Amino acid sequence: MTAYRPTDLPECAPGLLPEDAVIAIDGPAGSGKSTTARSLADRFGLLYIDTGAMYRALTQAALSQKVAPDDEAGLVALLAPASLELRPSKGDVTVLWNGQDVSQAIRTPEVESLVSRVASHPAVRQEMVARQQAMGRRGGVVMEGRDIGSVVFPLATAKIYLSASLEARVDRRFRQYKQRGREVNREELTRDLADRDRQDSQRETSPLGISPDAIVVDSSGLSLEQQNETCARACLVNPALDLELDTDLSVARLEIPMHYRFAYFVFRGLARFFGLKQYGNEGGALPRGCIIAVNHISMWDPPLVGSTFHRFRVHTLTKAELLKVWPMGPLFRMIDSIAIVRKGYDANAFDEAKAALDDGQNLLIFPEGTRRAIGHPGPVRNGLGIVVQATMAPVVPVFIRGSYGKMPGGSQLSPLEVTFGPVMRWHGLSALLEDNDSKQASQIIGKLCERAFCELQARSYERFAETEFERELGQVQLKKFAARQRKVFRS
Ligand code: C5P
Repeated sequence: MTAYRPTDLPECAPGLLPEDAVIAIDGPAGSGKSTTARSLADRFGLLYIDTGAMYRALTQAALSQKVAPDDEAGLVALLAPASLELRPSKGDVTVLWNGQDVSQAIRTPEVESLVSRVASHPAVRQEMVARQQAMGRRGGVVMEGRDIGSVVFPLATAKIYLSASLEARVDRRFRQYKQRGREVNREELTRDLADRDRQDSQRETSPLGISPDAIVVDSSGLSLEQQNETCARACLVNPALDLELDTDLSVARLEIPMHYRFAYFVFRGLARFFGLKQYGNEGGALPRGCIIAVNHISMWDPPLVGSTFHRFRVHTLTKAELLKVWPMGPLFRMIDSIAIVRKGYDANAFDEAKAALDDGQNLLIFPEGTRRAIGHPGPVRNGLGIVVQATMAPVVPVFIRGSYGKMPGGSQLSPLEVTFGPVMRWHGLSALLEDNDSKQASQIIGKLCERAFCELQARSYERFAETEFERELGQVQLKKFAARQRKVFRS
């Protein structure tokens, strides 16, 4: 596994971290997440959130209420009405379950041996993830757990996967227990940690694993100071890289060919006419050589999204059928559309896309492969992961809303918006590929992109709540589009 030592990472000022930063730390039990997360919270003035404590609190409540750890419905019935609070206190966190302090009770061996079973249920996780997102969506947090970078905050400012060998983790836990004056058997401890690793990484819903955009830190041979220092620097890698982005629009505009200027002029006019609003990248400044991944709900999406970034040549993967139609075919080819046959694997299209990215040009793709029901982005197909693995190009996730209908704007009943997410970079991909084949890696990248769309949609709904029109239309489309997806991609 790639280990990042402090010297591998740039030394940067803590002031680089934005105020609304979300730092996600994932990793197996005993890898030192809590200690490091606390230290980062202190150092950067962020709120520390221990999501493991939330699953532990539910396990403890289940034990005292005699709800079996495999009774999913019973656990949800216990959790749904409960208040669960994590209150910072003197460098520690007090855990309150229905107002009662359970901070000590959740650290017992009984809770420890059952918590992974309790945490494996999809319905329990869904409720917990919703609570965690509510705690951290406004930013200013360090959150540690197993699925923070991959599920809870797919758009986190920094993602760290903290690992350590089983031996090193057992050593640490052994010392911790001894300090607390608790007698433990080393073999039992080893078995318990290995067992939790297995349960956490093999469960069906959000298993523990390396997020392809996480920085992997192997702490086995590091002192605590080195571990904290490495992770602090890892938090600053993306903000530092963002600062290096070439965002000078006036220079970029000089570079683009005449026919692109004309296309932008027409598309921007169209977007203005329909009242398109742009969030997250108001200047339209995108880095060179990146993939712009957009959810797809309407035939208006390509020109509307295309109008929001006016720099560098952008190649668009376009369904081959469309490029055969006159006058769209010749026109789209002029602005660098690449024809893609959507059934199976189109090697020519991927080669063309790779060549464009390697040359520093950009690639606009709709990674769901076809239009999807509004309000229900995904599933993202493997094509995105294939291009990412071939090029390592960063991905900018973009969410479009309201373009559905005969005219964009989806009528007055849905705002017309384009929301940009942060640049996703593939720090952890090689580490991920040590345990997964390339197809699995593509699926993981696809899932991450899908969750990024969902998070951007949630942000959009925070600005302007989902309307009745959108909800109803989404339900109708879900059935209709599922049938079409089967037809388009039938192999
Ligand atoms: O981090 P900690 O050891 O306190 O977590 C206890 C257990 O809670 C883990 O072994 C895991 O099964 C579960 N957990 C989880 N997802 C998280 C955090 C913890 O499944 N985000």
